[in-house]
Amino acid sequence: MFEAHMRTPDGRIGEAYWFYVRRGEILVVVGDEGPRIPSSVESMLENPVTHVMGHLDDKWVFGVDVPLDLEGAPEGHEWTPLRQLYGKVPELHWTLAGRAEQLVNWGRTHQFCGRCAAATEPSPGERARLCPACGLLSYPRLSPATITIVTRGGAEEEVLLAHGRQFPGRFYSALAGFVEPGESLEECVVREIKEEVGIDVVDVQYFGSQPWPFPHSLMIGFRARYAGGDLVLQEEEIVDAGWYRADDLPPCPRGGMSIAGWLIEAWLKEQAAKA
Ligand SMILES: [Zn+2]
Repeated sequence: MFEAHMRTPDGRIGEAYWFYVRRGEILVVVGDEGPRIPSSVESMLENPVTHVMGHLDDKWVFGVDVPLDLEGAPEGHEWTPLRQLYGKVPELHWTLAGRAEQLVNWGRTHQFCGRCAAATEPSPGERARLCPACGLLSYPRLSPATITIVTRGGAEEEVLLAHGRQFPGRFYSALAGFVEPGESLEECVVREIKEEVGIDVVDVQYFGSQPWPFPHSLMIGFRARYAGGDLVLQEEEIVDAGWYRADDLPPCPRGGMSIAGWLIEAWLKEQAAKA
């Protein structure tokens, strides 16, 4: 089990998991049994910026900031884009890689105070950067977003799926959007669905959540019920949307790496259990 920590005890660290992060890529050891996260990387960097992440399997876990312009990899290693690493290393290692990526990016982009431009330093006792000149604290950046599947009907339900403009190819998914300041998660669900497809929903129910490090989202999944209105698409964002039966879904994620797939899979299981 992974336990989050911000610092290691004094003394020898021993073997560790080293998540080296460059440009959205993670350094892995290449092996016959597939890539794995290195437990030691000798002399790649002289004084790396290192983030203590926590402890896993009797090893400490670190994220290391590798300069963007550093080319090449140590012998037996290669750089793998974070998305492509999914399914090739244990799922927990993949989520830790995403955590490392977010911490490294936060560290890189908060070297200076956003209010007075003085150089920041680590804040004692918490994961934050402190401005010694004006006292402003900067915490790791997280952007919460809701993602929702809407259903309608009784014995035979239909699910609302949409083809977003930024999706590659003909691909449908749940509706998602960033939470605005001052808004509850439930209000965000209702607003986003109204904006994107023009309908009203009720009975907004929490499903689960997922950190999504592209680049720093926290996806919060919901189910909701259709309450009224016709589909009217917000054309800047949505190319197509429709109601689909479980046996007639368009190309969409089912399970897999994203909470959109988990939402759809859970709904499909419910429908199968009814049949
Ligand atoms: Zn300042």
